[in-house]
Amino acid sequence: MARIAGGFEAASFNQPPPFEDIDLFGGDRPLGDAVLRAGVDPEASGLAAFGREFGARETMELGRLANENPPRLRVVEANGDRADRVEFHPAYHQLMRRSMAAGLHGSAWEAGAGRMTERAARLYMATQIEAGHLCPLVMTNAAAAALKASPALLDAWLPHILAREYDEAMRPWFQKKAVTLGMGMTERQCGSDVRAIITKAEPCGDHYEISGHKWFMSAPMCDAFLVLAQAPSGLTCFLMPRFRPDGSINALRFQRLKDKLGNRSNASSEVEFDGAYAERVGEEGKGVRTIIAMAQLTRLDCAISAAGQMRFGLAQAAHHARHRSAFQRRLVDQPAMRALLADLALETEANVALVFRLALAYERAEKSSFEAAYARLVTPAAKYLVTKLAPGFIYEALECLGGNGYVEDLPIARLYREAPLNAIWEGSGNIMALDILRALRSEGGALAVVERLGAAGAAGERTVAGIKERLASGEAEAGARVIAERLARLAALAALSEAGGEAGSIAEAYADTRLAGPRGTFGACDMGAAQERLLSRL
Ligand SMILES: Cc1cc2nc3c(=O)[nH]c(=O)nc-3n(C[C@H](O)[C@H](O)[C@H](O)COP(=O)(O)OP(=O)(O)OC[C@H]3O[C@@H](n4cnc5c(N)ncnc54)[C@H](O)[C@@H]3O)c2cc1C
Repeated sequence: MARIAGGFEAASFNQPPPFEDIDLFGGDRPLGDAVLRAGVDPEASGLAAFGREFGARETMELGRLANENPPRLRVVEANGDRADRVEFHPAYHQLMRRSMAAGLHGSAWEAGAGRMTERAARLYMATQIEAGHLCPLVMTNAAAAALKASPALLDAWLPHILAREYDEAMRPWFQKKAVTLGMGMTERQCGSDVRAIITKAEPCGDHYEISGHKWFMSAPMCDAFLVLAQAPSGLTCFLMPRFRPDGSINALRFQRLKDKLGNRSNASSEVEFDGAYAERVGEEGKGVRTIIAMAQLTRLDCAISAAGQMRFGLAQAAHHARHRSAFQRRLVDQPAMRALLADLALETEANVALVFRLALAYERAEKSSFEAAYARLVTPAAKYLVTKLAPGFIYEALECLGGNGYVEDLPIARLYREAPLNAIWEGSGNIMALDILRALRSEGGALAVVERLGAAGAAGERTVAGIKERLASGEAEAGARVIAERLARLAALAALSEAGGEAGSIAEAYADTRLAGPRGTFGACDMGAAQERLLSRL
């Protein structure tokens, strides 16, 4: 009962019931279809149960608490000793425990078919409820790819990456079962252009000592960090643990935590290294090549996460539209709202088809050179498009909730503040577009991938011709975003067409509304018969 002016009490009405205790897996048709296409059993894999656990009211509450009580840096102890510790709210630790128990930080490295799809599905669902705690888990999973450049290091660390028991204690990694790994590349004077890094690495017997700084280094409570620094033979990748091998604390001095737009449960630090102990990963001077193996995987995860966040925005919009009436009709029955929801649903269908097709390519790449070339080329394209769509998409979803969407009581406001981040980190938009150009120009197999993607019909063929024309022009770099967007749209169309079934049947609407010409705002297009099909799936 709500107290209203005039002194009498009346129940609120025409307000949607709380959006909680949601079945994140069972209620998501595009996700369910993608998982089945990859041959993964939702029950046996535990995905169905994971969707219920993460959609539970209690897990959503952990997400709220972890963000409303952001981490705090403790620079010094009471007695003046350096502390360099970050304290998190218990809700953050609980989320970490759950996500690590589910293998989000390393299950891609386990044996067995379907592992990439299973992990992608868990990431896609978990990010809907709380994105910040996933930062160290995404980095840990990806770090194993860089460690491959030094097999002895991989042998030592992989068992800890695969272990699932979250251990928040500040103690050496070799005393823990499971670990988390972070990454330090960005400095004050450079982020995208890592060759301008000035942090120095001095050889020192069997290890190196690193001095310098990082302007952004997230998840500072990780057990170790992959760090780029200038060694005598050039930019090199290093593994820098929080503790030295003798058990003493390594020389990482945290200066402060960033005060961020969103992603507030995650700590992102500024740090200085004062002769910090580190071991070389890969060859001296080959740092970019070593770390790029990691970046490919984090970029894949950015695209998956952005797709998940959009899905959650759409789900909240649909929930509101079903339970709210205006002008004597439920919003979901109003033609303009139906057109908008269907257009958002179409984008979600395509994004989900794309990112899950891409995750599958990583698994198949071990045996297929086409899939390896597909993974190489489509990763920056998917990262470009899906992460760029997220802020505008979530804004439209938020507007479907009217004024309620703009208020922090509901999780969509937090989702909106989170949305730009996946586009910025792990290589911003222009960097992705330039990476696509590089691959198309210099990597064998890349153009064959484009040709194959274009085989999905007339719209596909036209798009391939357009990409080739741009590439051949003297202005390819200025048109890098045009190529990136067309390539990503083409790959999404191909993924929808390849999916067949219901997802396949909406490919035509995608081609008509996304590849035919310039696009307007969401909902400003005619989808014909596909509209009702999309709404019934939503
Ligand atoms: C919350 C958060 C957490 C982060 N955590 C980490 C972390 O853990 N570890 C880490 O190493 N970094 C981290 N970063 C840093 C992030 O990866 C960088 O901010 C990002 O890579 C961009 O680098 P920059 O900020 O130096 O921008 P710049 O490199 O200066 O780029 C600025 C803009 O210019 C564009 N640009 C750059 N080069 C070109 C070009 N040749 N042509 C056209 N356009 C170009 C970029 O796309 C970008 O839009 C984090 C950032 C944030 C916001």
